[in-house]
Amino acid sequence: MTATLIDGTAIAAKVRAQVAADVEAMFAMTGKRPGLATVLVGDNPASHAYVKSKRKASAEAGIESFGNELPATASQEEVESLVAGLNANPEVHGILVQLPLPDHLDEEKVLNKISIDKDVDGFHPVNIGRLSMKGRKPSFVPCTPAGCMMLLKEAGAQFKGANAVVLGRSNIVGLPMAMLLLHSDCTVTICHSRTKDLPALCREADILIAAVGRPLMVKRDWIKPGACVIDVGINRVDDNTKKSGYRLVGDVDFDDVKDVAGAITPVPGGVGPMTIAMLLRNTTNSARATYHLQE
Ligand code: NDP
Repeated sequence: MTATLIDGTAIAAKVRAQVAADVEAMFAMTGKRPGLATVLVGDNPASHAYVKSKRKASAEAGIESFGNELPATASQEEVESLVAGLNANPEVHGILVQLPLPDHLDEEKVLNKISIDKDVDGFHPVNIGRLSMKGRKPSFVPCTPAGCMMLLKEAGAQFKGANAVVLGRSNIVGLPMAMLLLHSDCTVTICHSRTKDLPALCREADILIAAVGRPLMVKRDWIKPGACVIDVGINRVDDNTKKSGYRLVGDVDFDDVKDVAGAITPVPGGVGPMTIAMLLRNTTNSARATYHLQE
């Protein structure tokens, strides 16, 4: 392997240690701790697992977590009134509505209800709008793209004038990721399922972000030698050698690519740990702003 491995687990641990120190400093000064409210609707096992790990990480950093669960049959009004109550609760500095919501619920309306000052996921349209505009500052940057930016910086990526290619245009990863790279003076190409000749576009990339949800799609001949490759994808593939019957792989064929890239994230242990770390950081920053403590 010639590429430098970008160790998301280690970098996330540093962020979490800093968050824990900030939380203790805040507690010493104010007697208050940051509070993160999670909203989980329905029985999706993956959503339950994500919320559980976010609440565990919160507790480890000294952040209070307030779990809120509603049945899959919950009405739009019930979910929105729960969010309204959390907006009004001074102990809550961040609200996380775990997506996806059950099909009968209007996700956009629910996200619109979250106070933009507690929108620690950064998914409120006002925050996304500000992120997309020149010279505006969102209250919070979405956690996964923010984590990717930190990984790129830690890997020593050069942004100014670099060609950055983002595979995927979702509201939670691809689109905000592209905006962050643009604000860092990259020349950005956003690709999606209708893009023609992905390999040729990717070969131009000094920075390549893969966020498509297609296992091992990105191959060796897609990579510009020396490129910085961030693999956001988390995909289950069958593996009979595992007790669970599956293993997790990214959107990038790591073994195929590792001799060509300059730096690369693994899956697992790359972007995943950063997403949670950035959520804790956003929540703590929100609480610090509430108590007028410097960022
Ligand atoms: P979405 O399904 O919302 O978006 C996928 C994007 O990829 C879409 O823009 C889609 O294009 C595009 N796409 C799909 N297939 C292809 C293809 N064959 N060629 C080119 N583009 C394609 O996914 P998310 O953005 O939510 O997540 C992407 C991946 O990242 C998933 O594996 C997810 O599990 C993972 N993830 C990981 C996180 C982490 O913390 N590590 C956090 C969030 C997500 P189109 O718009 O045209 O449909």
